[in-house]
Amino acid sequence: MTNNHRTDQPIKDLIGIGFGPANLALATAIDELSQGAGKPFRTDVIFFEKQPEFGWHRGMLIDGATLQVSFLKDLVTLRNPTSRFSFTAYLHHKNRLVDFINSKTFYPLRTEFHDYLEWVAGHFAPSVAYGHEVLAVRPVRVGEAVRYLEVEARGADGRLTTHRTRNVVFGTGLAPHLPDGGAPSRRIWHSGELLQRTRSLPRDDAQAFAVVGAGQSAAEVAEYLHQSFPSADVHAVLTRYGYSVADDSPFANRVFDPSAVDEFFTAPEDVKRRLLGYHGNTNYAVVDLDLSQSLFRTAYRETVSGARRLHLHNVSRVSKVEEAQEHVNLTVGYLPDSSERHLRVDALIYATGYRPADPLSLLTELESEIKKDDSGRPVLTRDYRVVTTEGVRCGIYVHGANAEHSHGLSAGLLSNTAVRAGEIAQSVTAHAAL
Ligand SMILES: Cc1cc2nc3c(=O)[nH]c(=O)nc-3n(C[C@H](O)[C@H](O)[C@H](O)COP(=O)(O)OP(=O)(O)OC[C@H]3O[C@@H](n4cnc5c(N)ncnc54)[C@H](O)[C@@H]3O)c2cc1C
Repeated sequence: MTNNHRTDQPIKDLIGIGFGPANLALATAIDELSQGAGKPFRTDVIFFEKQPEFGWHRGMLIDGATLQVSFLKDLVTLRNPTSRFSFTAYLHHKNRLVDFINSKTFYPLRTEFHDYLEWVAGHFAPSVAYGHEVLAVRPVRVGEAVRYLEVEARGADGRLTTHRTRNVVFGTGLAPHLPDGGAPSRRIWHSGELLQRTRSLPRDDAQAFAVVGAGQSAAEVAEYLHQSFPSADVHAVLTRYGYSVADDSPFANRVFDPSAVDEFFTAPEDVKRRLLGYHGNTNYAVVDLDLSQSLFRTAYRETVSGARRLHLHNVSRVSKVEEAQEHVNLTVGYLPDSSERHLRVDALIYATGYRPADPLSLLTELESEIKKDDSGRPVLTRDYRVVTTEGVRCGIYVHGANAEHSHGLSAGLLSNTAVRAGEIAQSVTAHAAL
């Protein structure tokens, strides 16, 4: 239903959908831009976040797991190295700066980085509605033109509210992905729920787990289960020959540079496709070298001792899953000769990755006004603004993994978050001045 304009509702400058690292970085950029311009832009901004509180992949905050990018790629430093929201400022605030330096690492613990993100998020608490899921973004027309957007959100109590804005920024991130036919249940989980699901399991009971997947999360889950459940068998099932190692070498890392976004954005489609293919192994279905080596050593040690608990089913695929009351039966097919193994496990964990949450699913009433590419994805300008018909006079921005096809591999990652957020904030401000 298209809404007509009513003048009695206050109109926000910007509504952010989701409050993960991407929109959190945007909050810092807007704040710093406003301070620079001397006007309190922040009061006109609100972010809706469906989680009840700030959380960055909480289910995978495994003890000892580290960030995969340098702490200097925090929410702000690459945009504004003097920002009060930097990871260094956080360490200083927590009185840990000196010890962090002494620890000689670029890669803080994920739990520590989460604490940093929460600390920054705390500064913006008045501008965030937690426990609010955005259900739809609708056009508000004044005459023929779409002047505003109406954002409908559902609170934790089920109550629906609507809010008007001149701009929306989608920072809706990633949604867990299960293979076709896979559905979460009591004994079948996505890796993103790992800690919540295992919290109440008895540690010393003999259990068996199967972990499907070949990426960083799959390897982390396998190691976590193996270490946390000392009597458990852990079956890692992957279609590859073994875990492949992430390329984080200096030259390859340049694909995440801010300048790489400019080059990628203007490159022809076939070059874009090739670059995504060449450098997919910086991020997708790959594992940090240390972790891969640690798992290999564990498996080898167990082969020597004969007490095997970590079982690697390589070049294999789960072909059948049957869930019973007390266990899950799996058929695992070995791809080279089609032979089958049957496993009985207490839980099956799919570490099969994520897919970008599709912004178009919330924009159905605006869909005919949004320009799409041959694959049906929204076309974005360099500043992450969705290209629309001329009649749409408000801004729709998309950052995160949804921009990977047009802006390159860094779109969904932390690497370029600071700069990207700054570009979106600048664009919103520039359009407001028109
Ligand atoms: C375990 C794990 C570790 C990772 N580690 C790294 C790393 O070390 N380095 C790196 O660069 N990347 C890493 N990543 C990639 C990850 O995508 C980024 O770290 C980061 O989370 C991207 O931020 P985001 O804000 O775009 O998305 P998200 O973090 O996914 O945040 C999106 C937010 O939007 C909310 N939301 C979604 N839909 C709605 C809605 N309709 N209404 C309201 N709220 C909504 C969600 O609840 C969520 O809080 C990791 C990913 C995982 C799963």
